[in-house]
Amino acid sequence: MPANTSSKVRVRFAPSPTGELHVGNIRTALFDWAYARHTGGTFIFRIEDTDTERVTPEYIQAAINTLKWLGLDWDEGPEVGGENGPYLQSQRLDIYAEWAAKFLEQGDAYHCYCSSEELEAVREAQRAANVAPGYNGHCRELTPQEIAAYLSEGRKPVVRMRMPDGSTTFTDLIRGEVTFEHKFVPDFVLARNDGSPLYTLAVAVDDVLMKVTHVLRGEDLLSSTPRQLRVYDAMGVKAADYPLFAHLPFVMGQDNAKLSKRNGETSIAWYRDAGYLPEAICNYLALLGWSPGEDRENVTMKELTELFTVERVHSSPARFDMKKLEAINGDKIRALSLEDFFTWAMPFMRKAGTVTGTDEEVALIKKALPIIQERIVTLGEIPALLNFLFVKDFVIAADSVEKIADEQSKKVLQISAERLSTLTEWNHESIEAVLRSALIEELGLKPRIAFSALRIAVTGSHISPPLFESMELLGAAKSLARIRGAL
Ligand code: GLU
Repeated sequence: MPANTSSKVRVRFAPSPTGELHVGNIRTALFDWAYARHTGGTFIFRIEDTDTERVTPEYIQAAINTLKWLGLDWDEGPEVGGENGPYLQSQRLDIYAEWAAKFLEQGDAYHCYCSSEELEAVREAQRAANVAPGYNGHCRELTPQEIAAYLSEGRKPVVRMRMPDGSTTFTDLIRGEVTFEHKFVPDFVLARNDGSPLYTLAVAVDDVLMKVTHVLRGEDLLSSTPRQLRVYDAMGVKAADYPLFAHLPFVMGQDNAKLSKRNGETSIAWYRDAGYLPEAICNYLALLGWSPGEDRENVTMKELTELFTVERVHSSPARFDMKKLEAINGDKIRALSLEDFFTWAMPFMRKAGTVTGTDEEVALIKKALPIIQERIVTLGEIPALLNFLFVKDFVIAADSVEKIADEQSKKVLQISAERLSTLTEWNHESIEAVLRSALIEELGLKPRIAFSALRIAVTGSHISPPLFESMELLGAAKSLARIRGAL
């Protein structure tokens, strides 16, 4: 076993923010974080932003904000610093350039002058001959004359790593022993002809310099591992000191294809905006490919850090199940204290333009929240449910108007208005009592029919919080005015 198992654990989450972080990224971040916390190790957050065309400052900031929002705190990285920084790869370009130069000097790497047209022609020929695609080693052993000729043509070389014959074998903590034959791992580019590093160079150099002991990351990066090990070797790192790798299984959509924009919502920002709580997302993602042992649906962040081990990560792909996430989110919402529920709800109310946040509005929202807490699965549902309490120009939704256009509804509304106006005390119990006696007992109507007309008249929609509580909150004057208005 590598020496790393005995040293203090250092894990890193190293996204390339070319967009909003997605479900797969966050599941990786969560496992990295949980593993660091479980082992009392260090969680490093590194931004891999060498692809300057696709990674933007906005996406970098969004990635930082997302981790913070989820409560995945890091010990080294952006904003907090650390002794192995900087933690943005764009600020470490000279380091990569130095290593590339060293590899050239050592003979581990060489300058490759092939143009993209020439490389394409090689690939074309490989396809035609049905052989594995990849660099054919054309520039491996150029003579000084050949080099001089290329330079005089004005060609600028890339730096290419020499992959020796043979194979690479390593033990993945999730999948066991993995071997890559080098005939399928051709010499690869470390630095472009403008000197900028490629992923394989930067990631490997940083994992070594940041003393990373464990690399937990997505399965899609499995095939880049032999290249990274090759870079460690060129850096003079002994095999016993290589980081250990654990490649996490893919997150699949309901259709068993890899989760993507096409078969599901993948962006964490979408879930945040739709009103999912960070605890719910972490709880759900924690169980996506990992299990605490028993058949549990709920796990707190504390339990996750206590129980998380790589051995309990499944090797088969995990299926993303929106319904499960919704159910967990509903549970987490119901578990909130009224104060916390209010804190989460308020931004949604403001954003929807339902309220501005006056004292009066705040007081009413606090009274109204308990009646909807049991009924919602996302915070995003709140404004529509409470809107009827705050609208200035009350109108009945078009699809609901027709539902109360009949004679019977008219009668319900007329009688309700009469009886309600006699009430001396306006609370949900007295409202319910008077309406039940008038509509159900005297008129003999079914509750669903009688109350649905009232619901529409008072709240403007056939979907609302419980009717009598809604009327209590709205107050006698407004409730009666709306019933009369509907008539
Ligand atoms: N930056 C890489 C990516 O986002 C991941 C690096 C790694 O975990 O090795 O795909």
